[in-house]
Amino acid sequence: MTTAITAPKCLVCDTDFEVQEDWETGEITECGACGQEHEVVEKTDATVRIELAPEVEEDWGE
Ligand SMILES: [Zn+2]
Repeated sequence: MTTAITAPKCLVCDTDFEVQEDWETGEITECGACGQEHEVVEKTDATVRIELAPEVEEDWGE
């Protein structure tokens, strides 16, 4: 039995992401179309939810 995961869409350009088997919560993935980084916030057998990744701050707190 094959369960298809609903592919999340890029929040910027609306392109479907290719769901990777090894994605885990907290994974950072990049949109293949516009390059925007997204964070996987929820992954189940049926769905993947992503949000815009926070921008990485250099010299954070130091
Ligand atoms: Zn995009």
